Amino acid sequence: MHESHQVQRLIQEARQMAAERKASKVKKVTIVVGELLGFDEMSVRLHWEEFAIGTPLADAELEIRFVPARLRCPKCSALFPKKGSDLSCPTCKIMGSPTDTGREFLIEDMAV
Ligand SMILES: [Zn+2]
Repeated sequence: MHESHQVQRLIQEARQMAAERKASKVKKVTIVVGELLGFDEMSVRLHWEEFAIGTPLADAELEIRFVPARLRCPKCSALFPKKGSDLSCPTCKIMGSPTDTGREFLIEDMAV
């Protein structure tokens, strides 16, 4: 997994956002994590805490919102959620292709 590197990038983004708002302390950060990344919530939290030390993010509450993966059917173009290991279109019963939904790793909101 690449949690560490990715979390470090988000921390940098969050620090920049805090600086733009001239905030010396951040109350809460909400991040969006796509299911397809396979990130472990506890691991993300541990890395976040580690990189947040000594920054305005140190005492911020971290809310993690997981986004389910969506697939696109190559036949009917429908977007549908992945159901466990079932990747097939509910209508055509053929295998869908991955889309960008489910690969997110970004800051959705910040309260200062
Ligand atoms: Zn279909």
